Amino acid sequence: MSVLVYIESPEGKIKKSGHEVATYAAKTAQILGTEAIGLLIGQAENAAQLGEYGLGRILQIHPSENPDFDAKSWAKLISEVALAQNASVVILTHSANGKSMAGRIAVRLEAGCISGASSLPDPGTSFAVSKSVFSGKAKVNYQIQTSTKVISLMGNTLQPEKTGGPGTVEVLDKKLDTPSVKVVSRQTSTGIVPLPEAELVVSAGRGLKGPENWGIIEDLAQSLGATTACSRPVADSGWRPHHEHVGQTGVAIRPNLYIAAGISGAIQHLAGVNNSKVIVVINKDPEAPFFKAADFGVIGDAFEVVPRLTAAIRKFKQG
Ligand SMILES: Cc1cc2nc3c(=O)[nH]c(=O)nc-3n(C[C@H](O)[C@H](O)[C@H](O)COP(=O)(O)OP(=O)(O)OC[C@H]3O[C@@H](n4cnc5c(N)ncnc54)[C@H](O)[C@@H]3O)c2cc1C
Repeated sequence: MSVLVYIESPEGKIKKSGHEVATYAAKTAQILGTEAIGLLIGQAENAAQLGEYGLGRILQIHPSENPDFDAKSWAKLISEVALAQNASVVILTHSANGKSMAGRIAVRLEAGCISGASSLPDPGTSFAVSKSVFSGKAKVNYQIQTSTKVISLMGNTLQPEKTGGPGTVEVLDKKLDTPSVKVVSRQTSTGIVPLPEAELVVSAGRGLKGPENWGIIEDLAQSLGATTACSRPVADSGWRPHHEHVGQTGVAIRPNLYIAAGISGAIQHLAGVNNSKVIVVINKDPEAPFFKAADFGVIGDAFEVVPRLTAAIRKFKQG
């Protein structure tokens, strides 16, 4: 028996979400009294460092290539490795790639699958894991009843924990099948932490009145080193790019800090942000629904409050 965790390494780099999922696998293996094994597909800088997060062995396939992602062939390969390693639990990140593979792997392994889990398995209740449902309004505990289990883990569920030294990297002589889809071109945003991985997010809505006013939001984000986000109508109106839209139909995020200025807090918006650790709302309407979900609220005009907050943060950082 073992716990197998697939670690994403986009462009050959292992990110914080990879360290999170490695920590989760190590803790799950500890609960089950077994070993946690990492799996990398493609290049990965500092692969052995995954050992520091509790993975004794790290398996790597195609170590000198950066193969294009294809859910079908990658899920097949991960399933084959899971079978060969006698894995009773397979863990993935709940990213776009992880989401597209979790179900496929579960079908191949005849496993129960919890997609978007947000807790460690509860050892007292024969492997119950929880996840948020109904746009974050409720939490459900699921018991996975099959002997093999597949879990995709929501980002920011736990902090990466270093527990030991480097692990051993073994190259596996296995190959991906010919992909069923081909990547024709790729455009990546540079210089910012992508929203799903951001720990600090500054977001704004229609209360900002127009795209020309986003300077105050970018200044606040820059003062904190935060990523910017927006409500859906803002992206729909073309004020901000669509990749910044958070909510039920946009990106779901779980940052440590979410600052929302001029956003009403409609249920569809909250669905993507209410798992943030701390929510700060700036809205001039004291009845705005967002205040009910806020840890801190400022009733005021964003055009006054946001620049003052930015100035205070800059002063604090200088001091
Ligand atoms: C099927 C469906 C899916 C949807 N998915 C999403 C989604 O994923 N994400 C999402 O965001 N929305 C989504 N929506 C839309 C959602 O219902 C809301 O309409 C939207 O979130 C409102 O955006 P907003 O808060 O920016 O704008 P508004 O509702 O217009 O609110 C603007 C807020 O700004 C405040 N304000 C105005 N001026 C100022 C000022 N000077 N200073 C401070 N505050 C000010 C106002 O008091 C108000 O609360 C979805 C809707 C549907 C039907």
